[in-house]
Amino acid sequence: MTDDRMIQTEDIVVDFLGLRALDHVNMTLKRGTILGLIGPNGSGKTTLVNVLTGFLKPTAGSVRIDGQNVTGQSPYQIARANVRRTFQTIRLFKKLSVLENVVVAGVSHGLSRRDATQAAHQALDRLGIADVAHLQAGTLAYGAERRVEIARALITQPAYLLLDEPAAGMNEHESDELLEMIPTIVTDFDCGMLVIDHDMRLIMRLCQQLHVLNYGKTIAQGTPAEIRSNPDVIAAYLGGEDRVTGQ
Ligand code: ADP
Ligand code: MG
Repeated sequence: MTDDRMIQTEDIVVDFLGLRALDHVNMTLKRGTILGLIGPNGSGKTTLVNVLTGFLKPTAGSVRIDGQNVTGQSPYQIARANVRRTFQTIRLFKKLSVLENVVVAGVSHGLSRRDATQAAHQALDRLGIADVAHLQAGTLAYGAERRVEIARALITQPAYLLLDEPAAGMNEHESDELLEMIPTIVTDFDCGMLVIDHDMRLIMRLCQQLHVLNYGKTIAQGTPAEIRSNPDVIAAYLGGEDRVTGQ
């Protein structure tokens, strides 16, 4: 039997009133692996995550999850296939406690309050933020807010986890901690992880595979070593080679 435990897009096109945000994108995210989705600002990264999670219906093309065609399904339906995401712009209930924020995510995905509470404690522990569980989410520093977002996504033991700029706003120490934690999530849940980030150092160290977008088109796919020396990628990051070496 072939292993079809992956998210696969086929020729995804997204048009916004005259702007082609995604142009025939074919992407594969396999279970148990970390895929980096990179590209300059406005290249279509968030749009692709929106398509994968049902927040946006593609103009053309299809999305398959574990072999099933889910194109055009709602975010709620796709979440039932255990695909979870975080948002580039943090979305927390600022007045609720950190713990409540995570519990609510579990309950809204079908866990009992009791199971959700237990799982929430585990998720906060894993993210290293158990000590702020009872603080109001609105009072947290930015790096901690990001971790709460990930904890919310983890509570249902996702099969796929899509992180849109999880290290944005983190200092170097915080993003290093994140870098160490992400592979443990992939191993423990055997999930497929997609990470968007501008920090090439982080992305190159974290990911087995990279997918590079520019103006909505795929300009390269491959291992970090292949991407680093790809002339199209270097050209897309106008600053030149030093911007993509990740060193
Ligand atoms: P990235 O995440 O790579 O920075 P995005 O996917 O957010 O890029 O955006 C890709 C392009 O699509 C950009 O030109 C952006 O302005 C445009 N875009 C994104 N969302 C919308 C929308 N809802 N309506 C119109 N244009 C959009
Ligand atoms: Mg984006």
